[in-house]
Amino acid sequence: MLSEFDLIARYFTRPIRQGGPVALSVGDDCALLAPAPGMQLAISSDMLVEGRHFFPGAEPRSLGHKCLAVNLSDLAAMGARPVAFTLALSLPAAEPDWLAAFSDGMLSLADQHQCELIGGDTTKGPLNICITVFGEVPPDQALRRDAAQPGDDIWISGTVGDARLALAGYRNELALPPEALAVAAPRMHAPTPRVELGLALRGIARAAIDISDGLAGDLGHILKRSGVGATLFVDDLPAGPALARREHDLRRRFTLAGGDDYELCFTAAPERRDEVLAAASRSATSVTRVGRIDKVPGLRLVDAEGAPLALQAASFDHFASP
Ligand code: ADP
Ligand code: MG
Repeated sequence: MLSEFDLIARYFTRPIRQGGPVALSVGDDCALLAPAPGMQLAISSDMLVEGRHFFPGAEPRSLGHKCLAVNLSDLAAMGARPVAFTLALSLPAAEPDWLAAFSDGMLSLADQHQCELIGGDTTKGPLNICITVFGEVPPDQALRRDAAQPGDDIWISGTVGDARLALAGYRNELALPPEALAVAAPRMHAPTPRVELGLALRGIARAAIDISDGLAGDLGHILKRSGVGATLFVDDLPAGPALARREHDLRRRFTLAGGDDYELCFTAAPERRDEVLAAASRSATSVTRVGRIDKVPGLRLVDAEGAPLALQAASFDHFASP
């Protein structure tokens, strides 16, 4: 039987990268971080609970990836460079195969972004994974939710809606052929945090948020914090490849309020369009202009001809009544 300390040593302890910002890692009472001089620390936590955020029995490698990916996505939405993370883990049992796959999925993504696991906590209990990420960003360059201004373009990265389509398939909300599920499922299980795009948009974009609960709701957070409104060109929203083949109505619903996409939604002045496109190409991430920030509060949805649409675009809320 693995002890708590064997488990930490075997699956969650690695040598410190020399010359990096981590001065002391797993094994002491605290880790020690030395951020680059003059940088601000960006800090965020996301918790994933079995049966709530992922299906019981979820495949451990992609679960490990996803837990870190959703946290890195928050750093991306701030324009912050990942530095380190901690992992608080509640586990029903110490199963070596599960732990090896989980740790591999998580640490492979961590390596891609040079983000080091520097500590955490491990306890026995229902499966629950809480990660806190630390990133760095130059002062005044963070992409804050309160920075959108009337006249700004609204952009989103990549495509949206395929994660929601996969969920609908698993839940039998609709008939999803196996080929379509095979295309959509990776968007749900293994999202790609848009870290490089977030970094490339520093000094170009004004406000940003990552789309975790659905575009309409997440954009709503920018609008509220910035004290502005917006017009969204619903038919310009880039649907994921599986959703793009579905009927118009479903495409509109799932691109607007899908959830679990982990794309970036950001605003930038129209004079910066070329710079936004250059940043997208530098970071090998597609971006699409999907709307405009207005002075008048509220979110207005319009079709391809600019005619108003009356669509329900409620986003996900853990505590909303069903
Ligand atoms: P403490 O008694 O101070 O809470 P622990 O005994 O819980 O310390 O943890 C020992 C060391 O292992 C600490 O450095 C802690 O940060 C680290 N640690 C515990 N769990 C994890 C984990 N799941 N991943 C990475 N580091 C961990
Ligand atoms: Mg502890």
